[in-house]
Amino acid sequence: MTTHNITLIPGDGVGPEITDAVVRVIAGAGVSVNWDIQHAGTDVFEAEGDPLPRRVIDSIKKNKVALKGPVTTPVGTGFRSVNVTLRQELDLYACLRPCKSYEGARSVYPNVDLVVVRENTEDLYAGIEFQKDKQETLQLIDFIKSKTNKSILADSGISIKPISVFGTERIVRFAFEYARKNGRKKVTSVHKANIMKHSDGLFLDVANNVAKSYPDIAYEDRIIDNMCMQLVQKPELYDVLVLPNLYGDIVSDLAAGLIGGLGLAPGANIGSEMAVFEATHGSAPKYKGLNKVNPMAMMLSAIMMLNYIGERDAATRLDNAIASIIKEGKHVTYDMKPTPDDPTAVGTKEVADEIIRRING
Ligand code: NAD
Repeated sequence: MTTHNITLIPGDGVGPEITDAVVRVIAGAGVSVNWDIQHAGTDVFEAEGDPLPRRVIDSIKKNKVALKGPVTTPVGTGFRSVNVTLRQELDLYACLRPCKSYEGARSVYPNVDLVVVRENTEDLYAGIEFQKDKQETLQLIDFIKSKTNKSILADSGISIKPISVFGTERIVRFAFEYARKNGRKKVTSVHKANIMKHSDGLFLDVANNVAKSYPDIAYEDRIIDNMCMQLVQKPELYDVLVLPNLYGDIVSDLAAGLIGGLGLAPGANIGSEMAVFEATHGSAPKYKGLNKVNPMAMMLSAIMMLNYIGERDAATRLDNAIASIIKEGKHVTYDMKPTPDDPTAVGTKEVADEIIRRING
C-alpha cells in the first residue's frame, strides 16, 4: 500500500475539529497517510510573530499536497491573510469549487451541478493597496489626475485591480481542461467588461480566444450581475464557470447557498505542481470547540484530494457514505436539520463516527 506524505494545516476556530474528523475518515477508508502537521493562523501569530511561518510553505513545497482547515483573518489589522499569502507564494492559481446537490440536503434547488473555477492570484486580491492620507496615496491621486484628468477625492483609499493576459489565459485553459477531463459540456466566463474595459475587458477577450481551442466544449460569457440572477433563477443551465478572483469568491458562496450552505461546499487551490485542499467556509469562530459544525465540506474537499493523489476507490466510498447520510438526514449537524436548534442534530465527531461505520459497512 502506498503511504502518502501530506501536509496538514489544522487552522484555527473550528479548523482543528473538522480536520480531525477528516483525518479519521481517511484512515477509516484505509488510505495510509503520513501527516506532516503544520500549525498556522492566529495562535501561531501570537507565538511566532508570523501567522504563516516559512516551515509551513516549505512543508507544502516538499509534499506537494496539503489539507488545510480554515484560518481566521482579523479585519483591519496588519495581519496578512494566510489564505491569500499561501495561494500567492505557492502560485496556486486555480481555485476549484464544485457545488453539487446531494439528495436530502436542505435546498430549494434539486439539480445543481456547478463547478466554479476562480482565478486565485490577481484582481483586487493582489494586495496592492493605498491607505487613505498616506503620502504615496496622495501621489497616486495626483498621478491619475495628470494622466486621465479624472479626480479622486483626497480622502480616498485605493485598491488596485490587475488582470493579465498570462493569468487569464492559464485560468481559462484550466477551466476548459477540467471540463474536458471531467465530461463537462460548457464553460461560461463571467466578467463586468462593459464597465471595466481594461481589466475585465481583457479577461473576456482572452477567454473568448482560449475558447476557440476547445471546439468540443460549448462556451458563452455572462456579465456578473446577470450571472448572479441567472444562477438563482435557473442554475441547471450552467456547468463550469470561470471567473476573476473577486467575482469567483462571491459566486462560490452563492453556489454553496444553492446546494444547502457552506457545510457542503468543498474546494481546492491548485497550481501546476502542488495543491491545497480546503472547504469554502471560514473558521466560524463562534462555534470553536463546541463539536457543532458540519465537517462534510472539509470531507468533500478531502475527496477531491484523494482523487488528486490517485486514491479513487477510497474517494468514491467516502462520497457514497456522505451521500447516504445526507439522504437519510439523521446523523447530520444542525445546519442540515429543518431548524438550527433541532435537538436531534449530532456533533462534528458523531458525523465522522457514522461515516466510518458506513464506509466499512
Ligand atoms: P465562516 O464561513 O467562518 O462562517 C459564517 C457562518 O457560516 C458561521 O457563523 C456558521 O453559521 C456557518 N458555517 C460556516 N462553516 C460551517 C460549517 N462547517 N458547518 C456549519 N455551519 C458553518 O465565515 P466568516 O464568519 O465570514 O469568517 C470567519 C473567519 O474565517 C474570518 O476571519 C475569515 O477571514 C476567515 N475565512 C477563512 C477562510 C479560509 O481559511 N479559507 C475562508 C473564509 C473565511
